[in-house]
Amino acid sequence: MVVLGVDGLSHAFAAECWPGARISRLRSVFPTTSSAGWLSALTGLDVHHHLVPGVVFADPTGTDELINAFTYRGEDLTPARETVFTDARRLGYRPLAVLGDMETYGGSWRDALLRDAEPVLGHRFYTPDEGPYRERDPERLAELVREALASTLALPGEGPRLVWCYVELDRHVHHFGYDRHAARFLAGVERAARELVDGGAVVIAHADHGLTPTRPCPDLTELLDDLARAHGFRMGGAGRTRWLYPAPGTAGALAAELRGKLPPSVRVARADEVFPEEVRYRIGELVLIAEGDTFLAPSEYRYEHGSLTGAELDTPYAVWGS
Ligand SMILES: [Zn+2]
Repeated sequence: MVVLGVDGLSHAFAAECWPGARISRLRSVFPTTSSAGWLSALTGLDVHHHLVPGVVFADPTGTDELINAFTYRGEDLTPARETVFTDARRLGYRPLAVLGDMETYGGSWRDALLRDAEPVLGHRFYTPDEGPYRERDPERLAELVREALASTLALPGEGPRLVWCYVELDRHVHHFGYDRHAARFLAGVERAARELVDGGAVVIAHADHGLTPTRPCPDLTELLDDLARAHGFRMGGAGRTRWLYPAPGTAGALAAELRGKLPPSVRVARADEVFPEEVRYRIGELVLIAEGDTFLAPSEYRYEHGSLTGAELDTPYAVWGS
């Protein structure tokens, strides 16, 4: 059993690029970030049960600091204790995780995702080094995925195995969208999937979220920086959903000012309107959600995720073989 975790792959683009797969539509969690989405996908828990609502949020141990989910180390990050690998082990499969582009992440988040998996190292695809993103030949990248899966399936040992493999297509889509490179890469992945099926495997692909066109807006960045200085709030969240931690008693006035000054394409909500009670202690009182195509984003990004558009929420569940 081979499971490809393709970061940032939308349902619509998967359906276009994988004619040989049976594809159904899954709905991502909110916020549509990798940290929340992969944890839900691999543990089966909703955000208000695994308690990782995004990337930057209040320190789980209760200090005044904000933490980054990708680098945080601590027992309190999430109460999640079992994964798909735990289930696989119980069912008699040998659970193997090709870390792939997850080799660049560390900390308790990755530990929680891959708990009970046997890690397989040495296969990076979209993150060959720590430098800025550079496009590489898509057929070569698909070939690297094929080699990673084939070599992991060929590891010595008897009995059935579950091989999960993480591919961060997201890195490319942020810069270039769902373009010809991405289509050629996915076509190569489908060829590899069919070859594995011919060899007796079942191959599945899933994703954490899709991405939606987003233009970085420097004026918005400046406005929020000015307001943060004036009101002394800090900002958490990531991508197209951010939240603010206003000083006690100032949320109402700040919300009114934000509604007056932000463009109408940015929704200003109270946290209790969009997040369940259980996870609210990690989130600031006010939430900003991008509803249009301009928002805060790194200057080189053209696509982003985190909010509630169909492109972000609809993800594929693709199956090759029976
Ligand atoms: Zn992601």
